[in-house]
Amino acid sequence: MFEPEVIYVEPLARNFALTESVLSRFPDVPVRELDDMQEVQRQIQMNASDTFGAAKRHLALTCFKGSFLKKCPGISPGMVCCNYYVVNLIKNCVYDCSYCFLQEFLENNSLLTVFVNIEDLFDELREIFSSRPDNIFRVGTGELTDSLALDRIVPHTDFLIPFFEQFDNAVLELKTKSDQVDNLLRYQGTRNIIISWSINPREIAELEEKGTPGLDQRLQAARRCQDHGYRIGFHFDPIIIFPGWEQAYKETVDQLFDTVSPSAIEWISLGSFRYKPRLKQIIKDRHRDSLLFTQEHVPSEDGKYRYLRPLRNHAYETIRGFIREKGKDLSVYLCMESKEIWQGVTGKLPRSDAKLDQFFDL
Ligand code: SF4
Repeated sequence: MFEPEVIYVEPLARNFALTESVLSRFPDVPVRELDDMQEVQRQIQMNASDTFGAAKRHLALTCFKGSFLKKCPGISPGMVCCNYYVVNLIKNCVYDCSYCFLQEFLENNSLLTVFVNIEDLFDELREIFSSRPDNIFRVGTGELTDSLALDRIVPHTDFLIPFFEQFDNAVLELKTKSDQVDNLLRYQGTRNIIISWSINPREIAELEEKGTPGLDQRLQAARRCQDHGYRIGFHFDPIIIFPGWEQAYKETVDQLFDTVSPSAIEWISLGSFRYKPRLKQIIKDRHRDSLLFTQEHVPSEDGKYRYLRPLRNHAYETIRGFIREKGKDLSVYLCMESKEIWQGVTGKLPRSDAKLDQFFDL
C-alpha cells in the first residue's frame, strides 16, 4: 500500500474531516505544516534526479481555491468533444505510466496533492446542478489522477457517492486502473455512478503502466462492481501499436468478455497514444525500456502527435471489430479524435447514435 515519505499540511486544510482521516492512517509518517507547497517542489527539484518520480512519494493536503467544475480539455481544435466535465480532487498519481501526460503537464508542480475541502466542491456542484435541471452533467474525477488508486487512504468515494445519488441530472464517472473497489461495495450500485477501467494488453500493462494492478486484477475488480449492480465502462486508451498488437488486443478483448457481461457495460472508448512534443523527451529519459516510440507519429490539428491516420483507423477498426463480435449493440466511442476519424471508423458521427448522443456536443 502507498505510504508517503512526508505529509505536508496547509494550515487552511488542517480542520477538514478528510485531513484528519488521512493523517490517522499514517501515525508514523512525519507531518509538516507548511503554507507554501512550491517550497517542497523546489526542495525536491534540488535533491532528486527524477523530480516527477520523487514528487509522487510526498503527499500534500491542501484546499483547492478556484472553481472545481471544468469542461474536459477534449475541446481542442479539430477534435470531437464528448460533453464531459472534470473535477480535480487529487493532483498527480501514485502509479507511473510511461505515457502519462502529467509528466509534462505537471512538470514544475508535481507534488502529489489531495484537496480536502470537498464541502466547497459540493456547494459549487449543488448550485450548478440545481440551476440547470435540463442539463445532464457527466463528471469525472480522473483527469489529473487515477480516481480510485488512493481510495483506501483518501476515501473520496465515501463523500462522492452519497452526494451524486441526490441528483437525477448528474453522472459520476470514476476512471481507474486500480482494483480498490472495497469502499464502492459498501454502497448499493446506483444508476448515476459509472466505474470505468483503462485497460491494455498484459504486456503493455507490465511494461508501460508501472505500479498498477495487472489486467487480471482490474477485470476482477470490474466483475465485483458489475455483480454489485454498478454500471461499468472500459477505456482502451492509449492504444499502443507494438509488434504483435493485433493478437494482444484480441486476447485482451477476449479476457474482458470472459470476465464481465456485455449487458453491464455502458460503453467502451478507444483512444490512440498521443502526446505533446515536450513529453517525448521526458518519456525517453524516465522510461528507457518503453515501446512507445517504435512507430512514427505526426502532429495533429491540436498540436499533439499521433500515429499516422491510416494506422489509427486500422487500429480502431480492428479493436472495434473484436468488441462488436462480443456484443453488436455495445456503444464504442472514440476519445479525442477528429470527425474524419469518427466517420471513417464508425461510419457516422456520435450525434446519430442515440446512446452516445447524450454525451456529445458537436
Ligand atoms: S494511472 Fe493515469 S494518472 Fe496515473 S500515472 Fe497512469 S496515466 Fe497517469
